[in-house]
Amino acid sequence: MRIVYVGEELFRYGFPPPHPLTSRRYLPFIRAVEALSNKEGVVFRRPPRRGEEVLLRFHSREYVETVREASERGYGLLDRGDTPAYKGVFEVALESVYATLDGVLSTLDGGVAVNIAGGWHHAFPDRASGFCIFNDIGVAIESIRDRVDRVMYIDIDAHHGDGVYYPYEADPQVYIFDVHQDPATLFPGTGFEWERGKGEAEGTKINVVLPPGCGGGPLRRAVDKCVSWMDEVSPDYVILQAGMDGVEGDPLTQLDYPLGDYLYAVERILGYAVDRGIGIAMLGGGGYQPELFGTVWAGILVRLYTV
Ligand SMILES: [Zn+2]
Repeated sequence: MRIVYVGEELFRYGFPPPHPLTSRRYLPFIRAVEALSNKEGVVFRRPPRRGEEVLLRFHSREYVETVREASERGYGLLDRGDTPAYKGVFEVALESVYATLDGVLSTLDGGVAVNIAGGWHHAFPDRASGFCIFNDIGVAIESIRDRVDRVMYIDIDAHHGDGVYYPYEADPQVYIFDVHQDPATLFPGTGFEWERGKGEAEGTKINVVLPPGCGGGPLRRAVDKCVSWMDEVSPDYVILQAGMDGVEGDPLTQLDYPLGDYLYAVERILGYAVDRGIGIAMLGGGGYQPELFGTVWAGILVRLYTV
């Protein structure tokens, strides 16, 4: 089963201009969805609404209420600087959680789920951060942990996925492979290679740090290492945060991956999961060249018909 999540509310995830995360980024993808909607092989699905209490699997009630109040008020900041509130932001962020959650639950026994308006890896249980409001990844992990032994979270976004890493740092059930730009040079300033999990979870996390301007070779090597590690771990489910803000030209980061190397990373991980019948959820994450973001995901969508 290949499921791709769509819908007006889902594709509103973003912030008013001049914010770098704009809902314009989804437009080329939406056009591709319209062009392909009659073709068999991929199911386009609006996220089923499972009730906002699913947020409490990962987030504190106080924080959920804080976001709700800011959303009703329609202005202000959800974090210390770069995640602004607007009217309806609560529902928009919740919709993204619904999409990832349904995707993971629907492909637990195999298949591919895609939520390009998901992967909000900086949101913590009690706070927003870095354009991320509700952590769809955390809610999904909490929702499947009693049904799987080992979840593999792979994060190729240019930023460290701190909102996933730290809540699961001491959790041996959640394996994390995160390749990102050197934290000394980029938000959120965490994710060093010596951070490998804590206590009984030591060794279940791998951070790979790449220097600014490194280009695509180091990304390919990191992904090859990730795939070998997956052979050892033998995960029951894979969540890929496929943020493309490491691709050259991105205004917020400096990794300068050629597009072909980014696509190699996505295809390698997707192919690995599909070949072994392991379910995988692919999440859009970052990417701040709006036209490129939507166009690249439209290309990945077309690929889903052939994997
Ligand atoms: Zn990012």
